[in-house]
Amino acid sequence: MIEISHLYKQFGNDIVALKDLNLMIDRGEFLFIVGSSGAGKSTLLKLLLREILPTRGSIKIFGRDLARLKGRQIPFFRRNIGMVFQDFRLLSDRNVFENVAFTLRVTGVPTREIAKRVPLSLELVGLKGKAQKKPGELSGGEQQRVCVARAIVNRPAIVIADEPTGNLDPDTSMDIMNLLQEINVRGTTVIVATHAKELVDYFQKRVVVLDGGSLVSDQERGVYIHAH
Ligand code: ADP
Repeated sequence: MIEISHLYKQFGNDIVALKDLNLMIDRGEFLFIVGSSGAGKSTLLKLLLREILPTRGSIKIFGRDLARLKGRQIPFFRRNIGMVFQDFRLLSDRNVFENVAFTLRVTGVPTREIAKRVPLSLELVGLKGKAQKKPGELSGGEQQRVCVARAIVNRPAIVIADEPTGNLDPDTSMDIMNLLQEINVRGTTVIVATHAKELVDYFQKRVVVLDGGSLVSDQERGVYIHAH
């Protein structure tokens, strides 16, 4: 479903953020992307979201080369991908329901449909009953659950989580990772970029290790390893 082929990303003349990356990700996979700071994880996620373009090589998602997407096609393409961020990025002046409904509203999903989908999504992440709360009234773990609900409400084929447990304590981190696993079991491809060694080791999923922009290890049922 995702085919990355001889991918390079360079910034300016001398910063090579990604170097000859080759990676195939199948539908329904759960994949950790690990690597120390500066390894190229964020750059890879930005390329997958078509926020930036490769310097060389290609990324194909659902058989389409992202570099060939026209400007007006990009928002439609992105609807296939749900994003979960380390810093939640919730709208603090809107309640939980509206935070989850937001993208549906801007993409013109009918109100009746929104009234069905948002509660389903909130129930799935264990936030039934919190729909009227504002983000500030929730714990960090609950706020991250809202982000997950927002990421899946559009039923995307892929969910990408960028350091989703970076602001959470260990127990809550485990809960969020379990939730992402559950979403994966329901059929969504899940990609998690993280530093959380204990979680990566615990879940024993596929682990791709980046170091200095290169893919240095790709293991099924892997553990977190440092390249050095
Ligand atoms: P990670 O997410 O693994 O910490 P990044 O993808 O953010 O790594 O960064 C990889 C390398 O590319 C680093 O050397 C970083 O400084 C550089 N880099 C990332 N984005 C930019 C940018 N917009 N301009 C210049 N250099 C960048």
